[in-house]
Amino acid sequence: MDTNRFIARHVVTLPKSGIRDFFEIVAKMKDVISLGIGEPDFITPWHIREAAIYALEKGKTHYTSNLGLIELRRAICKYVGQHYGVEYQPEGEVLVTVGVSEAIDIALRALVNPGDKVMFHQPCYVSYHPSVTLTHGLGVPVPTQAADNFALTAAALAAAWQPGCKLLMLNLPCNPTGGTCSRGQLGQIARFCVEKDLLVISDEIYSELTFEGGHVSIASLPGMQERTLFLHGFSKAFAMTGWRIGYACGPAPLIEAMMKVHQYSMMCAAIISQEAALEALVHGEDGVKRMREQYHRRRDFVVRRFNEIGLTCHLPRGSFYAFPSVAVTGLNDKDFALGLLQAEKVAVVPGTAFGANGAGFVRACFAASYEQLVEACTRISRFVEAGGAKR
Ligand code: PLP
Repeated sequence: MDTNRFIARHVVTLPKSGIRDFFEIVAKMKDVISLGIGEPDFITPWHIREAAIYALEKGKTHYTSNLGLIELRRAICKYVGQHYGVEYQPEGEVLVTVGVSEAIDIALRALVNPGDKVMFHQPCYVSYHPSVTLTHGLGVPVPTQAADNFALTAAALAAAWQPGCKLLMLNLPCNPTGGTCSRGQLGQIARFCVEKDLLVISDEIYSELTFEGGHVSIASLPGMQERTLFLHGFSKAFAMTGWRIGYACGPAPLIEAMMKVHQYSMMCAAIISQEAALEALVHGEDGVKRMREQYHRRRDFVVRRFNEIGLTCHLPRGSFYAFPSVAVTGLNDKDFALGLLQAEKVAVVPGTAFGANGAGFVRACFAASYEQLVEACTRISRFVEAGGAKR
């Protein structure tokens, strides 16, 4: 029987992630240095793991409130208030989710009517456009440029805007570029959102990993809290990718709408992950600082080396990604990534996996050990010197 005919049309036409095929090749190879996957090489700090073990020992094995443990929601409000200058109420303005991934999904499902237009800056996280498509919305990419250090500009936003745009998805610092916006740039974006009546979904997952300039959340700018959903999680800064835990904060009616989708799909996030997240927020700050210092050192090293090698690379002000241009090799980003993998066993991700205007760039995740980064750069240098050879 041909079961394909049962699959929904919008899923049939949904492209597969550009990263997937590539990493199927990587998985079959030995001794590859992977700068491909976007996750910390650090294991979750011990005190956080211990809190989860202790929760299990105490028999915490049940469902929680759909919104999440109240102690965790209180800690989230305190943390967001202290670090981002935005005050939320634990009852009604916070929802604990299964990672930022779920928060993005349920935010879009709660807000998008078929045909609504959703803007996002591009290159962007691989799930944004497909998540919009899955809600029968229409994605409106807004290009960001290396010349602007991949900051989103209000001018680019205005040029891409069209009637029917309802939401703007922001991710600052950005995966895959590490680009972010200054307070001034963010102010201009905020004014544009007010003028065009756009609601903002702000994905702040890399915000603690801002190396200079300090992070500003758009939710903290005048008039923006009421038109922003603040999404955050534990995967990156706390090295907790496998725990699948995150949260959304925002105006009560929006959180209530997301809660409806969440309660019929997820019910609640896993209780032990919630217990671990609580410990992370209350006692995790030193660990975050230590890891950020390591990423900072690694960033400075890889960006310097890429530029020496001729792969022009802007300075990513946040995240753990470098996004160098491969133009000097004369190869496109896919051929560069495949050639480098085959010739030197170093995995990076072609820029077009993050949208069409990632063309000519590759993403290199520097959440790998310093020693691995040194060796990876030696191999990349050899590959480039050989003329991107073995083509
Ligand atoms: N948002 C961005 C920008 C990401 O880069 C990622 C993961 O790479 C996610 C969200 C997903 O995060 P989580 O592990 O919290 O679902």
